[in-house]
Amino acid sequence: MSKEIFPIYSSPCGWNAMLPKRTPRSPLQSDLTVDYAIVGAGYTGLAIARRLRELDPQARIAVLEASSVGEGSSARNSGFTGSEVLPRTATLAGAEKARRQTALMREAFDWLKSMIAGAGIECELQKVGSIRAAATEAGEASLRQVVEVAKANGISHTVLGRNEIAERIGSDYYRFGLYLNDTYLLQPAALIRGLADSLPDGIDLYEDTAVQRLKRNGGSWELLTDGGVVRARNVALANNGFIRRFGYLKLRMTTIFTYAAVTCPVPEADLGHLGQSPAWGLLPSHRLGTTLRRIGRDRLMVRSLYAHEHEVPVEEASAKLRDRFVRRWPGLGHVDLEYVWGGATAFTMNGAPWWGKLDDGLFASGGCNGSGIAKGTMLGRHLAELMLGTGDPAKVSSAMGTASLIAPEPFRSIGFQIVSAIESRKAGLEA
Ligand SMILES: Cc1cc2nc3c(=O)[nH]c(=O)nc-3n(C[C@H](O)[C@H](O)[C@H](O)COP(=O)(O)OP(=O)(O)OC[C@H]3O[C@@H](n4cnc5c(N)ncnc54)[C@H](O)[C@@H]3O)c2cc1C
Repeated sequence: MSKEIFPIYSSPCGWNAMLPKRTPRSPLQSDLTVDYAIVGAGYTGLAIARRLRELDPQARIAVLEASSVGEGSSARNSGFTGSEVLPRTATLAGAEKARRQTALMREAFDWLKSMIAGAGIECELQKVGSIRAAATEAGEASLRQVVEVAKANGISHTVLGRNEIAERIGSDYYRFGLYLNDTYLLQPAALIRGLADSLPDGIDLYEDTAVQRLKRNGGSWELLTDGGVVRARNVALANNGFIRRFGYLKLRMTTIFTYAAVTCPVPEADLGHLGQSPAWGLLPSHRLGTTLRRIGRDRLMVRSLYAHEHEVPVEEASAKLRDRFVRRWPGLGHVDLEYVWGGATAFTMNGAPWWGKLDDGLFASGGCNGSGIAKGTMLGRHLAELMLGTGDPAKVSSAMGTASLIAPEPFRSIGFQIVSAIESRKAGLEA
């Protein structure tokens, strides 16, 4: 793992750059004693803070964010979210697990929507559904199994052929697809900024305040930052894959960087290339595939590539994303990419997050495996309840499972190289 205590990116977040400039909250400049300290102001950290405040209105709560809100991973993502969990297999056990996960996600997603509505957060949230699409024979075979799972579980879906996908997205690259209507698209930087800027009184957010070390002192924890020490009886680590920098969960998760690009506005005369749907989002059939979405009237977003623990040079990411874009829309070869950026996300071996108590007064939630908008909100909400000794932690653990052990270094990096080489070959034109 890199030596950085938090992710330092080589390029700014494109979603944030598309918004008016925001003034971050001041960094911590003196020592502080609070009831609860939270490390990380992403979806997970802000959900913990809000839920603690709801349940313990007198509590003093500090959220410490190493970068500025809008530049972290919570802003760097593709903005797909929702609450319906599709079972992995068409078995009864799979259906039951997905049903319990959906119930947790639905409650949290309704909560998130109420925050968006309550604070008037303009994050372009819209329910447009999503197309899971396959460009290859193998991709189609795997999607046909997903269709069977959807059928077996009564999940509303529509099967799409090449022409129907092309009509919607303007590209005939994909041969088979499955449309699921429970997906929402949003502007992630606008959402996380809005959530941070509408935190209730009693929650103090410090930006550009990296927690360098964590240590126990009697019955309290001390969080050391460049501007001062924060003392708290209860601490929540919501800094995702970087929880490991404090020495915890080293064998439970790993950091994967993935990349996104947004095109320049497509000229008026070429808008027909973007399809007939005014808004659409497309997810790949293969896990190393490419995510696409239309943004507003005239831009496209392309998300692809994976790098283990370290960023790849942005020029390399840009060239590869451009190749994926032009392969799908050869008629738009003259349109440049305006923004290209990477983001860190925490992956676990079995896809389950790590959530719970690490030590007396020390809690953590991390490992959203690339889908943290709703899941981070849900896990953060329940982690606050666990910290207060309320709620039903067993309900969360039994529905979500827990991150299994992962190989230590150097085997982990070697394993990643091997698996990603094999999977990239399998992904082929899905990438
Ligand atoms: C390109 C890309 C596309 C994605 N697409 C989607 C998608 O479409 N839908 C979806 O749901 N998810 C998606 N994800 C995943 C999603 O962004 C994450 O799951 C989500 O951000 C996790 O939220 P979090 O709050 O747990 O962690 P994070 O968002 O990573 O927040 C953790 C915060 O902790 C801060 N931090 C780290 N270390 C320290 C420290 N020492 N001191 C203080 N602060 C610290 C970081 O700066 C960061 O802001 C995508 C991710 C990427 C990169």
